[in-house]
Amino acid sequence: MADESSAREIARRVREGEVTAASVIDAHLTRATAAQPRLGAFTIIAAEAARARAGELDAALARGEDPGPLAGVPIAVKDNICTRGMVTTAASRILAGFAPPYSATVVERLEAAGAVVIGKTNLDEFGMGSSTENSGLHPARNPWDEARVPGGSSGGSAAAVCVGAAPLALGSDTGGSIRQPASLCGVTGLKPTYGRVSRFGLIAFASSLDQIGPFARDARDAALALDAIAGHDGRDATSADEPVEAHLAALEAAPERLEGMRVGLPREHLDLCRDDGVRAAVEAAVATLRDLGATVREVSLPLTPHGIACYQVISTAEASSNLARYDGVHYGHRAEGTENIVEMMSASRSEGFGAEVKRRIMLGTFVLSSGYYDAYYLRAQRVRSLIRRETLAALDEVDVLVGPTSPVTAFRLGERLTDPLTMYAVDAFTVGANLAGVPAVSAPCGADADGLPIGLQVTARPFREIDALRVVDAFQRATDHHARRPALADGRAPKEGSRG
Ligand code: GLN
Repeated sequence: MADESSAREIARRVREGEVTAASVIDAHLTRATAAQPRLGAFTIIAAEAARARAGELDAALARGEDPGPLAGVPIAVKDNICTRGMVTTAASRILAGFAPPYSATVVERLEAAGAVVIGKTNLDEFGMGSSTENSGLHPARNPWDEARVPGGSSGGSAAAVCVGAAPLALGSDTGGSIRQPASLCGVTGLKPTYGRVSRFGLIAFASSLDQIGPFARDARDAALALDAIAGHDGRDATSADEPVEAHLAALEAAPERLEGMRVGLPREHLDLCRDDGVRAAVEAAVATLRDLGATVREVSLPLTPHGIACYQVISTAEASSNLARYDGVHYGHRAEGTENIVEMMSASRSEGFGAEVKRRIMLGTFVLSSGYYDAYYLRAQRVRSLIRRETLAALDEVDVLVGPTSPVTAFRLGERLTDPLTMYAVDAFTVGANLAGVPAVSAPCGADADGLPIGLQVTARPFREIDALRVVDAFQRATDHHARRPALADGRAPKEGSRG
């Protein structure tokens, strides 16, 4: 199995009988296992379950059945997304050993389309972080430079796709957790519109912001995955009952050029980006979009500097409520040797949660407490409304907004860990899409002086994922930034020459 086979190509070959699902899964499990000691991208590699599932698919094919558009496609799933019978911990000690009795809707849908879960990926505990250093298990590392972080919180998913352990992975994005690691690892990541994809079975961080989405090597594979997971789900009251278009087919039918596409450049996103390499790469990408026929104009999002504060108040408030359920009774870890139930709950939480999660719970409890509620939480809600209004107004004038995904490229492990504010600062351009509920894609658009990937963020109107994907797809057909791979060849499995 060639390293660079897309999910589309794998599914085609499996459906046409050119290769078996078993051989595809074996090759990817080998690669995932070989990279694991160096990258720590996985929390578990589910070799046995994946092989069993591949065997079932091959048997179905032998009977003449079509397993679906993702036949035999390996997929890595962020470990805050429930997989039935497969340990799901959100990288938290408090959920150690928790095997959910059901799968998330997204997992059910992917499996129904023929995909095979090969493992669960590492994350910042409960999704709280931007580097995957807050994992309660072990940090994940960036395949481009193992001394650097892969971004977060879905750092494991981004690293797994980057090294070809799987062509597709799922992540969740509350304030940038799909787009920022996609940017730092040089892969394509999509945060859909709030409500586009069911959150049923996603371990909640901040429910009004959380959204599940795919990582892939290009826009077309991301579209293929979105087609499988999007759509209404009666088990998630916030899932939208809006028609879902066939994104992959639409990309395949679209013209190569971008005539008629109106691109807006938020002035503040470039002004607030102090890294010359990132700014230059984004400006070059914009020039390419112009060459492809898009019209480009400046727009303004003056509230950008207030995004992080607004996001931190709302997300910690919601997290403090969502995480109340981890009490030593319902799930996971329970402290030993306590005298009564209050002590037991308190000790279980103290032992089970990591430092960043505790910080967020305390902040969230504070901003919701009486006397502070109006000053913090209510005010943040008002700012959120203004940010949403401002974003939608900009998107009234243009079809997509384009800018840097992250103000920085991959930073060194430890570099931002001791100062939470510098860690939060890297989310400056990503939190807006969550606060506004709009879809956004990150795609590779170049490299800095050290060869580290730079990401371009493309934001679209609600339920117009297709516009962002079209811009990225046209860009990827005209350039090859997305095809660049790290020289971590020795961290991979030996090249498989034959298969099937
Ligand atoms: N980095 C942001 C945070 O620390 C966003 C995380 C996320 O999207 N899950 O909260």
